[in-house]
Amino acid sequence: MVKYNLNNIDYWVFDLDNTLYPAASNLFNKIDKKMKKFISETLDVSEIDAHKIQKKYYKKYGTTLFGLMKHHKVDPDKFLKYVHNIDASSLTENSKLENELKKLPGKLYIYTNGSKAHAINVLKNLNIDYSLFNIFDIKDANYIPKPSNKSLDKFITKYEINPNRSVFFEDIEINLKNPKIVGFKTVLIKSTNHPDEKNKKKAINMKYIDYTTYDLTKLLNNINIYINN
Ligand SMILES: [Mg+2]
Repeated sequence: MVKYNLNNIDYWVFDLDNTLYPAASNLFNKIDKKMKKFISETLDVSEIDAHKIQKKYYKKYGTTLFGLMKHHKVDPDKFLKYVHNIDASSLTENSKLENELKKLPGKLYIYTNGSKAHAINVLKNLNIDYSLFNIFDIKDANYIPKPSNKSLDKFITKYEINPNRSVFFEDIEINLKNPKIVGFKTVLIKSTNHPDEKNKKKAINMKYIDYTTYDLTKLLNNINIYINN
């Protein structure tokens, strides 16, 4: 078993999408399609052009929403409500994950580029009590997404987090860079078939990553055993 140097952690920070549920559940693809539809309808362009705009902004700004707000004055609440209105019932209940989360010593956070409503919808479908977490969403971040330092600073300030006593679980490698620099321990959640283009490249730069796992529940179980021994 890998020994995790995580026995001085008070702040357990989790990304939401493709972190608290597996990328294979395809939820991300549903959101992706809704974004394309929203852009096509709102900007009155073909779905092909909408897709190009969506990906261009995502790459340039970290979220598609940021580009839509900046260049097209899109109402963020309207966008978030539309794209997160998806059927999440394909998610599998995960009581094992909930058990491990409950055992962690300290406070639990969700830090997401999505909306709070989406986080709650996901957690309900996983059958995980959402009140276990403080949820920090894109609105809390003033719509400035990860991996921006401004977003991270807002998160740290809001909850008075001590990065040296924190760990961050994320499926997107670049989102772990700034947390690692300011003192977080970092864990990359891997998957064999990741839907996000930022994760398509094969080589992982381990410079900003302390641990990796394909199975968050198993990893938390190992951490809990280690902490309690
Ligand atoms: Mg994610």
